[in-house]
Amino acid sequence: MLTLSRPNIPSTALPAMGDVLDSGMLVYGKQGLAFEAALKDFLGAKHVFLVSSGTAALHLSYLALGLERDDWVIVPDFTFPATSSAAHFANLRPFAVDVDPTTYTLDPDALEAALDNWSEDRRPRAIMVVHEFGAAAKMTHIREIARRHDLTVLEDAACAIGALDDNGLIGADSLAASFSFHPRKTLTTGEGGAIATNDDAMAQRIDRLRNHGIVRGPNGVDFPEAGLNYRLTDFQAALGLAQLPELSGWIETRRALARVYAEALAPLAKAGRITLPKALPGHSWQTHMIVLADGIDRAQVIAAMAERGYQCGLGAQSVTDLGLVKHHGPITVGPRLYHQGLALPFCESYTVEELRGCAEALCGVLGA
Ligand SMILES: *Cc1c(COP(=O)(O)O)cnc(C)c1O
Repeated sequence: MLTLSRPNIPSTALPAMGDVLDSGMLVYGKQGLAFEAALKDFLGAKHVFLVSSGTAALHLSYLALGLERDDWVIVPDFTFPATSSAAHFANLRPFAVDVDPTTYTLDPDALEAALDNWSEDRRPRAIMVVHEFGAAAKMTHIREIARRHDLTVLEDAACAIGALDDNGLIGADSLAASFSFHPRKTLTTGEGGAIATNDDAMAQRIDRLRNHGIVRGPNGVDFPEAGLNYRLTDFQAALGLAQLPELSGWIETRRALARVYAEALAPLAKAGRITLPKALPGHSWQTHMIVLADGIDRAQVIAAMAERGYQCGLGAQSVTDLGLVKHHGPITVGPRLYHQGLALPFCESYTVEELRGCAEALCGVLGA
């Protein structure tokens, strides 16, 4: 079975992890510091903090904003639910806005409309933009809208390490960009994540909150505020550090493989059976999701593809369709992507022939 994806662990990772186990420093040791420094270098960010998951990164960035209880934060409808659930656990109220049908990211016009028609008890304070599947949201436009409406912009870049927006690498110039190192992501530490920030005050709060609120002073450790334990272990950091030098090459390969799918699936797109994702130049292609035309039964397609040796699945969720998040007016694109989106097997270690085989199988299943 060609699975949806496969973690790609370089041979250098195992001895590095063994060294950590031998060292006795399993948390906050040399590998953690080295991975943090390497990520900072790679992203060109002022600060990077390793944490235990992408969800932990999101939770900390919401908490570090210091908003008031029940403040509203805008999220895109189509995402992994952790984007809005983490807001919930920071005592904030998420509010969903629809997304674009071919990039799957927040639609600036829908954002503008939601803000113009806002009718809640208080104005929204922040927006969590999602770079879904490694496709950058339209940051210049979104930041401009956010400035006019006095919204703070955070980024859920869980899928988007190494992806570029219209200003460069995502996370290079962020108030807080959250990354995930879950096995389904391009770089993985098993579980894990990181936050990149260019804001010194955010950095200080994030660094404390991930480590019990501890501050080190002349008298040892002090606890000026409550905190959490969202630290990453050092053997996980060694795993991430071993992959980081490969990342840019992997993303280049993914961009080339996305072109293979685009070409091999063109007949299906032309026949109106599927819609292809937009190939943004800075896309990192963490997931390759197409959208089936209305009326095609996705469960049947997934079963037929599995019979042919290809694991397909759904891409991400609609948080309003799930009933998790409030919205005004109709939200139509997110739910369609949730119900008709089809993630195809995709990974830098897959060959052109494997992907062509998958595309051929799909053409057979969908009859084109
Ligand atoms: C994977 C993902 C998360 C959650 O990351 P974890 O490391 O699994 O906690 C959050 N948001 C998005 C958009 C994701 O794709």
